[in-house]
Amino acid sequence: MEKIRGFYIGRFQPYHYGHQSVIMHIAEEVDEIVIGIGSAQLSHTPNNPFTAGERVLMITRALEKSLSLPFYVIPIEDIQRNALWVSHARAISPPFNAVYSSNPLVVRLFSESGTDVISPEMYKRKNYSGTEIRRRMLAEEDWRSLVPPEVADVIDETDGVRRLHDVSGSD
Ligand code: ATP
Ligand code: MG
Repeated sequence: MEKIRGFYIGRFQPYHYGHQSVIMHIAEEVDEIVIGIGSAQLSHTPNNPFTAGERVLMITRALEKSLSLPFYVIPIEDIQRNALWVSHARAISPPFNAVYSSNPLVVRLFSESGTDVISPEMYKRKNYSGTEIRRRMLAEEDWRSLVPPEVADVIDETDGVRRLHDVSGSD
């Protein structure tokens, strides 16, 4: 029988428990998961502090113990041409036949290309959000409880909080 491979895309700046809860839900419905890291070319900015490679590490380390299915983490750079974005994402990902996203643009682009998109429920969105985690890092509030411990380790190894402070400052 044909394998069902699910596709899930995010910027993962950083990867957090909201993302993880969606992936665990997807894992109940598919055989393998493709995780696309969007805006892969961006790093060292206030909204996109982490490199694609750092985000690959965060996701791989967090999932290798908790996810029993095969998964592939694929960095996907922006192409500045939304009309071609679905083809671009398909061209660099392992083939997938189910798409999961709650991002309205992603939903729109896939449905225009004839692919139905499943929109997972939000998991405690108020706190489990990249924007909230970056805000807490800058405010020196607790952010570690919102991410898997492996993600906090990667952020510590890359001196990520100090980097976020530095790239958010002005001269
Ligand atoms: P940012 O605030 O930087 O946009 P984010 O938390 O929205 O970060 P993204 O990488 O933009 O994270 O999101 C990737 C996908 O994960 C999106 O489809 C988003 O809707 C979804 N998502 C984010 N947070 C949650 C959550 N708490 N529960 C379920 N899905 C979430
Ligand atoms: Mg978002």
